[in-house]
Amino acid sequence: LTETAKVSPTIAKSIVQELVDQRRHLKLIASENYCSLSTQLTMGNLLTDKYAEGYVFSRFYAGCDNVDAIEAEACEQAKKLFGVEHAYVQPHSGADANMVAYWAILSARVVTPALAEMGETNPAKLSVEDWNKVRAITGQQKLLGLDYYSGGHLTHGYRHNLSAQMFEAHAYQVDKATGLLDYDAIEKQALELKPLILLAGYSAYPRKINFRRMREIADKAGSVFMVDMAHFAGLVAGKVFTGDFDPCAHAHVVTTTTHKTLRGPRGGAVFCVKEFAEYVDKGCPMVLGGPLPHVMAAKAIAFTEANTPAFQTYAQNIAKNAAALAEACIAEGLMVPTQGTDNHLLLIDVRSFGLNGRQAESALRRAGFTLNRNSLPFDPNGPWYTSGLRIGAPAITTLGMGTEEMKEIAAVIKLMLASTKPEIIKKEGEPEALSKAKFVIEPAAEKEARAR
Ligand code: PLP
Repeated sequence: LTETAKVSPTIAKSIVQELVDQRRHLKLIASENYCSLSTQLTMGNLLTDKYAEGYVFSRFYAGCDNVDAIEAEACEQAKKLFGVEHAYVQPHSGADANMVAYWAILSARVVTPALAEMGETNPAKLSVEDWNKVRAITGQQKLLGLDYYSGGHLTHGYRHNLSAQMFEAHAYQVDKATGLLDYDAIEKQALELKPLILLAGYSAYPRKINFRRMREIADKAGSVFMVDMAHFAGLVAGKVFTGDFDPCAHAHVVTTTTHKTLRGPRGGAVFCVKEFAEYVDKGCPMVLGGPLPHVMAAKAIAFTEANTPAFQTYAQNIAKNAAALAEACIAEGLMVPTQGTDNHLLLIDVRSFGLNGRQAESALRRAGFTLNRNSLPFDPNGPWYTSGLRIGAPAITTLGMGTEEMKEIAAVIKLMLASTKPEIIKKEGEPEALSKAKFVIEPAAEKEARAR
């Protein structure tokens, strides 16, 4: 940091402030964690200076021997950890990993057969007219993923995301009464649509998914079964999700981030069966440019760390803590959709306190909790204000917390929500209204919460 400060005191100061912030606030964001020092140091070094477009042992640049060794090791460790046939560790993020997976599936199942029909194998040799014919076919393909409001991710076909431009994007929702996935309803929808890709995975669904059942649905509909395990990869690595609940045992293609429950560097990866391997490896030039050698090295470290009994204990503890936190929240009288959790996260419906998610999020930050507001299924408050909170146990489990601390966290959340009210807006000549953004907290409650 001394070197950083010599160039930019502003940046050095922000790094120190972030350290203070992460130490002083309880990190309850479900997608965040604390990676190990070995991961951080592997990520921050001279490897960042190297270009290595291409993939392992097949590069467009000279001098890639060390990056080859690094990427090969990361792929090998990923294959061992998740028991997958093929691994690609270049995506810079989970969103990139999904783009690579989508284009790989389109290439394998749509573009290659279309080219074969035209008697050509190399798209670069096609005329613009013929290439446009191929593009027209790829644009007609259907994607069926979990609805954003049911906990799906933006990249799963949300209208503002590229995925909804690439595909005719359709969504399945959770059941309105239970908040759970209804596999029979998904099957019916998939058989009607016959999508190219049936996608499972979530950012905010508090239950486990039966991937064996989803694969059966995909097979019946003639779809490629893809799972985005970005959120729960650590629970897969740590053997919390096994058998029917292990995505790597059932999906054709699995994408992930490496920085959430998996506790590695910020980044993504794609795993797949052999059929898609050569297409996934074309992530560069399909979607990506040069890979990040320093991050691939750190991914190798994280995969190795995750393949240990200590990590399995950690993963089990995440699930135990999340379940204990949900139970404690219910005991405090908070509304927990689906009445609990099977994974690392839970949702809280804050409407009974007269608040929206944004107000609840901001009020809790004042008490020292960093967590995020989240849309609930069929949320009337939309994605900006929302009606819910999403709370995750990965980071606090890394800190070594256990079920006793979960009770205390639930009690403080209750105290704060019960002591926060929307601010009353008074405008000349207009009736009084409740603010959607501003709020007031009873000072004594805030003081007590901060002290606890
Ligand atoms: N997929 C899911 C399910 C996610 O929850 C996220 C991020 O929250 C992503 C993909 C995107 O990951 P990234 O932010 O690394 O692009």
